[in-house]
Order: sequence, then structure tokens, then C-alpha cells
Amino acid sequence: MIELGDHEGAGPHRSLVVLINPEIVSQEGTIVAEEGCLSVPEFTEQVKRAARITVRAKDRAGKAFEIAADGLMAKALQHEIDHLNGVLFIDRLSPIKKSIFRRKLKKALAETA
Ligand SMILES: [Zn+2]
Repeated sequence: MIELGDHEGAGPHRSLVVLINPEIVSQEGTIVAEEGCLSVPEFTEQVKRAARITVRAKDRAGKAFEIAADGLMAKALQHEIDHLNGVLFIDRLSPIKKSIFRRKLKKALAETA
């Protein structure tokens, strides 16, 4: 399940979208943008994503709906859907970047130990 807060729309009507069993049904274009993750603190990397996506999901009542997203919203959705599938954004990196990341992670772990 993914919960999306509307960070841009401040005020009393901030919407919260809940997506249960979300699934990307169509995607278009590509964007490469800086991404980080709470699961991997202090590490961000350029990740390639679809620029525009349509996601099919169910709401809390079990009713199916579709949501179209682009920009930051598309990026956030793809990141979160990856999480649901057990994929971290580092898994989307090239093998070279992945090995650099592993080294950084090892170093970070050694420093906190
Ligand atoms: Zn994440």
C-alpha cells in the first residue's frame, strides 16, 4: 500500500491518495533524476524512470481506479511501487554504479560500527 501526500498543495484540503496493489499499466518517455531513499540514508543517485505513467490501484474501499502522473509524482510512485516489489532504486543502477554504491555503503557501515 502506498500513501501519497500532496506536498505542494498546502492548506486544509491537502489530499492523501491511498493506493492498494498498485500496478503500472502504461508508461511513456524517460527522465533521469536524482533519487534518494530512506532505506539507504545519505546516498542519492541519478535514476532513470518513465516520465509519465498510469497506475491502476484499489482504494480503501476496494474500488479500482487509475491515476495518471508525471514529474515528481511519477518518480515517487515508481520508487514506491519498486519498494512493494522488493526493489531498491540502487537495483536500477548500472553495475559500475552499483559497485561504487556497495563500497560507499560498506564504508558507512564500518564508520558507524
Ligand atoms: Zn525508498
